[in-house]
Amino acid sequence: MVNTAVVFAVLVAAIWGAESEYIEYNTTQRIVSGKINVHLVPHSHDDVGWLKTVDQYYVGANNSIRGACVQNVLDSMISALLEDKNRKFIYVEMAFFQRWWRQQSKAMKIKVKELVNSGQLEFINGGMCMHDEATPHYIDLIDQTTLGHQFILEEFGKVPRVGWQIDPFGHSAVQAYLLGAELGFDSLFFARIDYQDRAKRLKEKTLEFIWRGSRSLGSSSQIFTGIFPRHYDPPDGFTFEINDVSPPIQDDILLFDYNVQERVNDFVSAALAQANVTKTNHIMWTMGTDFRYQYANSWFRQMDKFIHYVNQDGRVNALYSTPSIYTDAKYAANEYWPLKVDDFFPYADHPNAYWTGYFTSRPALKGYVRVMSAYYQAARQLEYFKGRNETGPNTDALADALAIAQHHDAVSGTERQHVASDYALRLSMGYAEAERLVSSALASLVNQRSSSHRVNPVTDFQQCPLLNISYCPPSEATLVNGKSLVIVVYNPLAWNREDVIRIPVSTGQVFVQDFAGKKIESQLLPLSNATLTMRKHYVRAYIGKSPGGDELKYWLAFPVSVPPLGFSTYIVSSSKQSCHSSTISKMYRSEGSANNNKSIEVGQGNLTLLYTADEGKLAQYVNSRTLVKTSVEQSYNYYSGNDGTDKDPQASGAYVFRPNGSFPIKSNHQESLTVLRGPILDEVHQQLNPWVSQITRIFKAKEHAEIEFTVGPIPVDDGIGKEIITQFKTTMKTNKTFYTDSNGRDFIKRIRDFRTDWDLQVNQPIAGNYYPVNLGIYVQDSSMEFSVLVDRSVGGSSLEDGQMELMLHRRLLHDDARGVGEVLNETACIANKCEGVTIQGKLYLRIDPIGEGAKWRRTVGQELYSPLLLAFTEQDGDNWLHFSPSTFSGIDSSYSLPNNTALLTLQEFKNGKVLLRLAHLYEIGEDKNYSVTASVELKKLFPNKKINKVTEMSLSANQERAEMEERKLNWKVDGFTEEPKVVRGGPVDPSKLEVELAPMEIRTFFIDFNPLQTVTEAENHVAM
Ligand SMILES: [Zn+2]
Repeated sequence: MVNTAVVFAVLVAAIWGAESEYIEYNTTQRIVSGKINVHLVPHSHDDVGWLKTVDQYYVGANNSIRGACVQNVLDSMISALLEDKNRKFIYVEMAFFQRWWRQQSKAMKIKVKELVNSGQLEFINGGMCMHDEATPHYIDLIDQTTLGHQFILEEFGKVPRVGWQIDPFGHSAVQAYLLGAELGFDSLFFARIDYQDRAKRLKEKTLEFIWRGSRSLGSSSQIFTGIFPRHYDPPDGFTFEINDVSPPIQDDILLFDYNVQERVNDFVSAALAQANVTKTNHIMWTMGTDFRYQYANSWFRQMDKFIHYVNQDGRVNALYSTPSIYTDAKYAANEYWPLKVDDFFPYADHPNAYWTGYFTSRPALKGYVRVMSAYYQAARQLEYFKGRNETGPNTDALADALAIAQHHDAVSGTERQHVASDYALRLSMGYAEAERLVSSALASLVNQRSSSHRVNPVTDFQQCPLLNISYCPPSEATLVNGKSLVIVVYNPLAWNREDVIRIPVSTGQVFVQDFAGKKIESQLLPLSNATLTMRKHYVRAYIGKSPGGDELKYWLAFPVSVPPLGFSTYIVSSSKQSCHSSTISKMYRSEGSANNNKSIEVGQGNLTLLYTADEGKLAQYVNSRTLVKTSVEQSYNYYSGNDGTDKDPQASGAYVFRPNGSFPIKSNHQESLTVLRGPILDEVHQQLNPWVSQITRIFKAKEHAEIEFTVGPIPVDDGIGKEIITQFKTTMKTNKTFYTDSNGRDFIKRIRDFRTDWDLQVNQPIAGNYYPVNLGIYVQDSSMEFSVLVDRSVGGSSLEDGQMELMLHRRLLHDDARGVGEVLNETACIANKCEGVTIQGKLYLRIDPIGEGAKWRRTVGQELYSPLLLAFTEQDGDNWLHFSPSTFSGIDSSYSLPNNTALLTLQEFKNGKVLLRLAHLYEIGEDKNYSVTASVELKKLFPNKKINKVTEMSLSANQERAEMEERKLNWKVDGFTEEPKVVRGGPVDPSKLEVELAPMEIRTFFIDFNPLQTVTEAENHVAM
């Protein structure tokens, strides 16, 4: 009856001339204690590339794929905020915001700055993109965040307070403590966790908690974390983009379908439902989703009305809010919160949908990102040594390209093909500019001394970005035309370094000298057919023309020794007499004779690998120094990708790994093994089938084996998608336990078919045990530990005791229905002929006595991440170039960083400030010698400069560390038991200038030099 009365009243009012008039909505509401507060947080989730490229999303191009234009979002959101000062909005992706900002008028910039100052517009997260958390390296995460945070600081003087990782597909420990707490964030929010975990947390009201991501740094880098009850969109019925179907509030009495009370009821019941699963009387509604607010008024109009009418109703309190305001409210509630350690991998949204495929998807892009990341670190150092140049070539374009490549649909491999190509193109353009910078920086360093000695100043160096596939024009050509090849070898690590380099040469009559003229022992290794095929095809795919080089015969390998942050120079010349020449490797072919019972021994240093003579299979690992001797086998297998035609239509795809059977890849060759032996290294070449081959290298001076695998084109003519793995089997009793790294930093203990936080129901015994591997994976028993390190991020697991496996490549024929709408079937095309892409990559394996493995993982891990940078030039015969100096170290020539520390960043900012980041490489308890506080002497890092002031900063260098610590919220943890005292390095004494680093600590500094006391160039002490 009530309804009839209302209708009647409305009709009567209308007939008698009641007016439909302007309603002033009261949007001023703030938090009200004692009520359920519904924090409405307007946001737009703008992927920095996914179905469209970053620029297509920004300008709204290619809208047939998806109607999305970020420019519309920013334009309309700003006008909507200017209309009502109570409205709020958060913005997250600085790659988009920068694109918009640089095109705004002065007047508009002033208005936007006012919006930021008043808190109406708040930047949160604030990196260039919302990065992926499984597949990036932590240095890339730091760099991309720093880039965005510095922009916000420069333009707005603001420091973001909140982490907003709402979409990434699982969450890492490094995100919580490093890219969260160490940035000074007060909280972190996201949406995606395992469906079983979510069900339990909803029941127990534990969607919000305190996360301690680091064992070593414990409570000193914990963060308040909130998981959304469902996803990052609003509750059902509250989405208001112009095409969305939620009913708007209709409050004009002259119109039909007046629904104010009905909609208020909907709002209240959705709020109560959420309050039911949330601690405290504050709940957050994420008002927006992907690319929303293209017409912002359609959202704000509705939220204005809801706030007005819901607060008139009075059962709950609705307000415009931000995650910062929400965090402060949670803190003010003075609650106890549960504790969470480790991470949120792997993520499943459904019993058969483990998002563990993307750990490996697009392995070529993942590898390229890693190579570019390392190059960027080295180029930035050289840019610092040379002095930053705003007009000349610099590293900015590479920094930008790398930053957006960390997006959760970029390096993750979950974007469409044309978008993956766009990321790669940007990286290659950034590289090209950085390459010019590196060449000119090296030229200026080798010509540093007074010009009187100089005969031939070097003005140009060439580099070989395709050296990995044996393409290096300067090394191939120089020796045949009678000239000598000069190689400058730069070491981006702050340690002395001994390594072996390999370059392709066209003649066997060569020898190597250091710059003092001393002959260096070297070895020639004939190029395999697999290598030459790869070279021919992929050089053409990359540069558009044939590589030539039919003369190309050998890899020339020789040892180099390079000072910290410095270079050494080597000369390769033609020899007239063969007795002076480099040693040509001896070749041995195993014909796979079953009669021969003797095993084949490879390796001439401490490490020996034994292969079976009959099948040519790896059988045993022996280290004569450590006395480790154990059986180990390696094999290749593939999983057939589920095509989604069984009861559950879930296919294996770009995101999801859903295997449907495992199949061995057997060698079908007569000639199963070729061994090359020489003074520097031994190589074992194995061709398993036409599309899987590998070369295992055992260097005389190293105690690990390097496995270079070549996988592809994966055949799919049988209509079956395939996911290729390699596995290592030992007899070690590893008790279901293995360890994988978090973004290349902390190692996290994994137990097969087990989760710490809930009682796991196992549905996918393979996919559900896969974890991201960025640095490495290891297993251990009571006497040994077996580690494998990787050269890019891959998925990995230990599915049986003593076993480890890594997924190297995937080629699939079905979409997995998570939005990308394209199959993961990468091809490489030449002249319109396409074939499945081939992946060449490296694994490094070593078995140590128990307790000894960390040293190798950490030290070699740094070397793998930061390979030596090679630059080439030539000289005429004996007419020696006068490099002055021929060897250089950017730090004091007597100094090297302690073995347990690393220099992560040495960078000159645009404003001339010098940024230094130092890291401890070990966790507490990881190594008996190295898991202790270390000390770095800044005076020796900057030997030629007078340090005026050292200011410790937050991780992204946007605030002083001391201020950040002072502002830190002190959360109360449920059932809190005393943790061992957390150790951190103390303040830097301005006279001693020594930086202490406790286990896993990363410290960031601005260094001010006294310009008056800078040592002049002529007086510069450079090591000769
Ligand atoms: Zn996204």
